[in-house]
Amino acid sequence: QKAEWARLKNEQSVTADGKQVTLGANIGTPKDVEAATDNGAEAVGLFRSEFLYMDASELPSEDDQFEAYKQAVEGMNGKQVVVRTMDIGGDKELPYLPLPDEQNPFLGYRAIRISLDRQDIFRTQLRALLRASAYGRLAIMFPMIATVKEFKDAKAIFEEEKAKLVADGVKVSDDIEVGMMMEIPAAAMIADKLAKYADFFSIGTNDLIQYSMAADRGNERVSYLYQPYNPSLLRLIKNIIDASHQEGKWTGMCGEMAGDQIAVPLLAGLGLDEFSMSATSILKTRSLLRKLDTTKMKELSDKAVTECETTEEVVDLVHQYTD
Ligand code: PEP
Ligand code: MG
Repeated sequence: QKAEWARLKNEQSVTADGKQVTLGANIGTPKDVEAATDNGAEAVGLFRSEFLYMDASELPSEDDQFEAYKQAVEGMNGKQVVVRTMDIGGDKELPYLPLPDEQNPFLGYRAIRISLDRQDIFRTQLRALLRASAYGRLAIMFPMIATVKEFKDAKAIFEEEKAKLVADGVKVSDDIEVGMMMEIPAAAMIADKLAKYADFFSIGTNDLIQYSMAADRGNERVSYLYQPYNPSLLRLIKNIIDASHQEGKWTGMCGEMAGDQIAVPLLAGLGLDEFSMSATSILKTRSLLRKLDTTKMKELSDKAVTECETTEEVVDLVHQYTD
């Protein structure tokens, strides 16, 4: 099996009936690009930029960040790199940026909420990203967007920094896609509205599951609720993908679910455009996708969304359709 996967390194990610999708890698630092390309990644679907902040002893400078983003886009050689702006808070802390003590850090001051509040930090990051965009195919997404206003505010700051750089004669790409993570149920429910403004969505199932089931993603006692194949989650995912397609936009997924071999047939049926995962899962997922027929998978996902009542029923149905 390993040998079969290795042969797929330079093959396309295409289903048995010819539907092309993109298989990307999740990375934490530009050094991870090598493992991504070694495993046949067609994109970086998630660059968790907060690792640049966590690996430093003070806020990383614009130049330091620029070098890191530039290295990543150059390493991917023209393939898209989606950089997520700083996602600090929740379980991720910075020693040099004390966050308030909160009862519920996962429901508190984190990610885009910090960025919109601490615009000094946010603008520095956006400038570094804009400058790096001249060296490859860079896209940007904002984490933990809950409302249309948050997206519009973040995008407006991006446009301001872009205009300033252009006025200063700095070279920046003119077609940077600006999208958002879909990891809050409220956003998933108004995906049709958000799709008018965002160039793409990337579904963060790690958080979307936790927030939709109200079950901490790291708490063993409630882990029975933390289920990717739950019909309620599938309905949210369907709503997100359909809304993006309605506006001519695309949807990816960068949570763990994207590389889950039971979930992939369902996601293919729901019309997911891009699957981003740890590099080591890419080739086996490509192998699986090449055996799937999207018409059949659509029948599977339609049934899962409309008829199934439980996670177990969904899993059984997937086996019926794929074994
Ligand atoms: C997610 O929430 O699914 C995600 C990809 O982001 P993170 O795991 O970094 O929160
Ligand atoms: Mg997340």
